[in-house]
Amino acid sequence: MNNFSLPLFMQVKSDAVASLGNNLRYYLPKEADSKVLILTTEGLLQRLDSKVRTLLSQLKDYQVLTVEKSSFDFAVKVAKKVSMEGIRIILGFGGGTALDTAKYAAFVANVTYIAIPTALSNDGVCSPVSVLFAEGGRKHSFRSKTPDGLLIDTDIIIKSPRLLMQAGVGDIISNYTALYDWNLDCEKNGGHADDFAYMLSERALNALLYSQVKSFDSPEGIKMLAQSLVFGGLAMQIAGNSRPCSGSDHLFCHALDELYDHGLPHGIVVGMGTIGAAWLQNRDYQTLVDFLKAYDIDINPARRGVTEEMFVKAWLMAPEVRKDRYTVLNTLDMDPEKFRELYRLMCTF
Ligand SMILES: [Zn+2]
Repeated sequence: MNNFSLPLFMQVKSDAVASLGNNLRYYLPKEADSKVLILTTEGLLQRLDSKVRTLLSQLKDYQVLTVEKSSFDFAVKVAKKVSMEGIRIILGFGGGTALDTAKYAAFVANVTYIAIPTALSNDGVCSPVSVLFAEGGRKHSFRSKTPDGLLIDTDIIIKSPRLLMQAGVGDIISNYTALYDWNLDCEKNGGHADDFAYMLSERALNALLYSQVKSFDSPEGIKMLAQSLVFGGLAMQIAGNSRPCSGSDHLFCHALDELYDHGLPHGIVVGMGTIGAAWLQNRDYQTLVDFLKAYDIDINPARRGVTEEMFVKAWLMAPEVRKDRYTVLNTLDMDPEKFRELYRLMCTF
C-alpha cells in the first residue's frame, strides 16, 4: 500500500487568504507563529496588493523570496536556506513557478508547505510532483509532497488570465484517455489500477464534463475547476504515480516540450494530446471537442502554431519519452501517415 497524506485544510472561497491565520492556529498550532518563507514571483505582490496585505497581516515572522526560474538548483538552495534558518513553513504564492519551487523545497527541507495558487492551470496544485528545470534547461518531474494546506481564493483566480484556466480544463480532460491507458497497461502487464485513485480521477473528469456551469465568470465555475484539479492531484497521490491523470495524452505533450519551444501552456497541449489519444484509442472524442468548445478552448493545432511536422514528430517520439509506460501507442504500428490524418482531422475543429 502506498503512503499518502491529505492536506490538513483546503478552502476554495472568496477571500480565502483571510483564513490563513485561523487555519494555521487550528491545524498546525505548534507552527502557527514560527518562521515563514513566502515564495512568489516578480510583480505579483504589487498586482495583488490588498490580498497580500491581508496575507501578511496574519503572519508574525516572515520573509519574502522572489523565484525567477523554477529550477531544481534554486529549489535545493531554498531548502538549504530553510533548514539553516529554522524556517518551519514554506508558503507558495503564485503560479507554477512559485508553487513547484516551494513544494520541492518544502519536501527536501521536510517542513510544512502551504499553497495559495493565483492561477489554476494544471493539476500540480495538489499533486505530489514538482516540475522543475533541470539538466540542459529542460523540464523534469520530481517526486515531491502535496500541500499541507491549500487556500484557493476565488477573487484572485477569477482575475487570472483566461488561457491559464482553459489550460486547467485541458489538464483535467486527459483523465479520460489516461484511465483508458492505465487499464490497457494493467491488462497487458497484469497490474491493478488502484480503485480509489481511479474513482477520484474519473470523478474529477465527470464533475467538469457534466457540469451545467461551463464558465470561469463565477465563483461556482472556479470552485468546480479547483475541486477537479485537486481530485486529480489526490488520485496521483493515492496511486503513487501519475497514471490516473497522465497517459498517451501527456506523452504527446512531453515529447512536444522536448522537441520544441512552443510557448503553449501545459494544459493546452495536453488537451490537444487528449483529443488525439481518444481518436487513437478509437473512442468518442467529439464529446470532448464539444466540451472544450463550450469553454472556448481552441485545440486546433494549426491555430495554436503547431505545424503538421511538429505534431507528427511529437506523436512518433511520445512512446520513447517514458518507455515504462504502456499506452495505446504501444498497440499501434506508429505509421506517420496515421498522425498526418489525425492532424488534418484536428485542424477542422
Ligand atoms: Zn498534466
